[in-house]
Amino acid sequence: MADDGSPAPDSERPLRVAVVGAGPAGIYTAEALTRRAPVPVTVDLLDRLPTPFGLVRHGIAPDHPKMRAIRDTLHRALDDPGVRFVGNVEVGTDITLEDLRAHVDAVVYTYGAALDRPLAVDGEDLPGSLAATDLVAWYCGHPDADRARVEAALAGVRRAVVVGVGNVALDVARVLARAPQELEPTDMPQHVLDVLAATPVEEVTVLGRRGPANASFTTMELRELDGLDRATVLVDPADLELDPAAEERLAGDRNASRNLAVLREWAGHEPAGDRVRLRLRFYRRPVRLLGADRVTGVEVERTAVDGEGRAVGTGEYEVVPADLVVRSVGYRGEGLPGLPVDPRSGTVPNEDGRVLRDGGASAGEYVAGWIKRGPSGVVGTNKHDARETVASLLADAEAGVITPGGDRDDLVQTLRARGAEPVLLEDWRAIDAAEVALGATRGRARTTMHEREALLAAARAAARASAPTA
Ligand code: NAP
Repeated sequence: MADDGSPAPDSERPLRVAVVGAGPAGIYTAEALTRRAPVPVTVDLLDRLPTPFGLVRHGIAPDHPKMRAIRDTLHRALDDPGVRFVGNVEVGTDITLEDLRAHVDAVVYTYGAALDRPLAVDGEDLPGSLAATDLVAWYCGHPDADRARVEAALAGVRRAVVVGVGNVALDVARVLARAPQELEPTDMPQHVLDVLAATPVEEVTVLGRRGPANASFTTMELRELDGLDRATVLVDPADLELDPAAEERLAGDRNASRNLAVLREWAGHEPAGDRVRLRLRFYRRPVRLLGADRVTGVEVERTAVDGEGRAVGTGEYEVVPADLVVRSVGYRGEGLPGLPVDPRSGTVPNEDGRVLRDGGASAGEYVAGWIKRGPSGVVGTNKHDARETVASLLADAEAGVITPGGDRDDLVQTLRARGAEPVLLEDWRAIDAAEVALGATRGRARTTMHEREALLAAARAAARASAPTA
């Protein structure tokens, strides 16, 4: 492994901050701390994966290369000499929270919201039923993705249902409906490309439990569905007839009115030959997943939207046949050992980013990103969010609530002494180079390496190659 090169502890040293989670929220936090603080600050940017970028690497759909290119901007913060990337370290396993806090003056939790939300309907645990988080992790090559389960669920799938009408649901529907040649240039792992190419998808149905005026997807992502090589988007004109309340909602919501205009353009589409039917259906909520030893369909209840904007059942049911059901109904955060989350919101209670414990601000503990505000917004939303948290942290530093308090052991040395294998920036560069080299073998810009061991092996090989010979 590369030498961390950290300075010897010194009581005159800069403020030392650990940021837990090297996704966009963590990287923007590190950037704000090192570039905006009036006092010197150094940051240890921890991640449980050997790779940085969080959902930019393992969430943004691989067929959205322009959005994923934000990693180049994020990389600049990693290159800052005041920031030390420390990957492959799990807080709660490799080091306790208490211990971590003893190594630094302040901690900012930015580890996101990795869990899925369940539908809480019968049949949800059948083979062939997946959370979008499972499928997204798999197609992005997340080391913890359950390959066997996802690949078994995809085997032979002709008809898929995606529950939910957010942007993640559209990502999933689009990836399932795309032709292999559209996915080939992405950085998806090779086995993901192979499995998707072998999946004989004929129909993908996206189900909204409320009306088109209530969908949370954004218009650019919606419009993209109509540009796929082998899919035809189908919309039932009856779903687009709005009652006065929905009309009123539309008038005050630009995104919803643009969405509706796009959906109306598609209302005349007819299924075409052997093209994938990409159906967008509204006013249907799943009540049960059907099947004995694997999913065969979803029983849905027709809904209406009440005066409060809620979906209410009408007592009319139908079955949508499906061999795969992907629920895409939002993410939720979980606690770390020693850091509880509010079970209802799945976020860490906080005020302007200051962690609240027993109703009061806990000195030296902060949050940013999805674990602070919940799973909403785009990557850039985290920049503003991180700045708010960093402002709270710096105000506390100025007020003497947190101080560069005396000598502390170096975190990386402690981790190594305990048998952990921290992945530092040079190691990540080696992984990065190995992925680019792997991609080049098939004429691609990069191929994501899926297995944690493969990622670590790339880092170790580079470290061995650069180690001075005795
Ligand atoms: P989301 O936007 O909150 O959408 C969740 C969807 O699930 C909503 O349509 C919601 O419907 C539905 N839902 C929730 N519970 C349900 C239930 N029990 N039964 C049926 N439907 C249910 O969440 P997301 O799609 O996971 O996205 C998370 C965030 O990431 C969003 O801010 C999103 O914009 C962002 N993102 C952006 C991009 C992009 O910019 N390209 C891509 C991916 C994600 P109701 O409204 O009726 O509750």
